[in-house]
Amino acid sequence: MNSKNTTPHILPNNPSDLQSIDLKSGLTFVGQGVLDLSHFPRLLQEIAPNSGFEASQVHWELGTWFEERLGSIPMQYMHLRLAVDLPLTCQACFQPYLESIDSDRDYILFDTEMEAEEWDFDEENQDAEDALVASETFNLLETIEEELLLSLPLSARHPQGECRPENLQKVAKVLKSGADEIKIEKPNPFAVLKNLKKQ
Ligand SMILES: [Zn+2]
Repeated sequence: MNSKNTTPHILPNNPSDLQSIDLKSGLTFVGQGVLDLSHFPRLLQEIAPNSGFEASQVHWELGTWFEERLGSIPMQYMHLRLAVDLPLTCQACFQPYLESIDSDRDYILFDTEMEAEEWDFDEENQDAEDALVASETFNLLETIEEELLLSLPLSARHPQGECRPENLQKVAKVLKSGADEIKIEKPNPFAVLKNLKKQ
């Protein structure tokens, strides 16, 4: 493994290639591109339907490298930058808005699930890189989707100042008229009286 002197292998912007990257080859990788949201079905489920806003494609940028840690064997690292605009439903006014997600993360790659978990659970690594498991068939699409799901806001909100009070009033009206409709479905004694008078 003479990774330090090799020029990086360039990853094509091709979903099937990105689904199987040999991270045990000792090669380093670089790549960037734009992927359609259809490759991320779990992310699609989070999008506000019929919002009038258009989701962007997923922009990705990746680089891997090896770095010696405490003078021991070199560890493999990965930098992943992601950007996408997604229509989400604001949880304050229930109106759709466009959320810009920008994620920039470093990962450290381990040979086994156990080592990766150990790293993640160690409190000392709380602010350090996230752990991933390297394999001969590393699925970058899955990692991208996972990272974007983690980057979604816990409670989606319009940017400050853009949550319109008139929208809130509209919502209140809709909720109120909804309540009225429910009342109308109950038998209305006054309506019965009115009908009797007409006869
Ligand atoms: Zn809002």
